[in-house]
Amino acid sequence: MELLEQRIRKDGEVLPGNILKVNSFLNHQIDTVLLDKMAEEFARLYKDVEVTKILTIEASGIAIAYPVAQQFKVPLVFAKKHQSLNVNDDVYVTKVWSFTHKADYNVVVARKFLNKDDKVLIVDDFLANGSALNGLIDLVEQAGAKVQGICIAIEKGFQDGGEKIRERGYRIESLAIVDKMTEDGKVIFRNQNK
Ligand code: 5GP
Repeated sequence: MELLEQRIRKDGEVLPGNILKVNSFLNHQIDTVLLDKMAEEFARLYKDVEVTKILTIEASGIAIAYPVAQQFKVPLVFAKKHQSLNVNDDVYVTKVWSFTHKADYNVVVARKFLNKDDKVLIVDDFLANGSALNGLIDLVEQAGAKVQGICIAIEKGFQDGGEKIRERGYRIESLAIVDKMTEDGKVIFRNQNK
């Protein structure tokens, strides 16, 4: 999506460790006009797909997923991180490796918010090695629900999460795919006509 790529070129910061910082429009301060346009694009891409629920992960996924849920007029569920678990908790639980914090943490969704009849669109801000996304897919599958598709704002195409998850047969639509980030801070995108 040209608009998002332009914005990343203008305001994205390349940090050591192949981290792209987008705090000025996506991850801290939020450009709601841009996020609305991104949601319209996801709705266009998945217009023929039945969706009953949007699933994301806190915290940064929520802002991106909210306008997507509005487009589809379905509830938004966000998976919660770092929850201490009681045996009585009626939740689906999975483990996710945090790329940014270098640690494993539990991610949970209450069973009552995801069930076997749900047709789910998963939304997240970044796709890197795929751990966050694998966790979300696992939660949907524990519920017996169906993953209809995956919406990613920025995929780091030089990490292999996207390739491995597509190989498993999931449809992933990424609005910007970064092929390379240079030491002097340039971001190079994969050619896309979206
Ligand atoms: P993965 O689990 O695919 O390795 O990484 C995805 C998660 O890590 C995303 O939910 C995102 O929060 C975080 N992440 C991974 N790479 C980056 C990055 O370059 N910049 C930012 N801001 N977050 C990232």
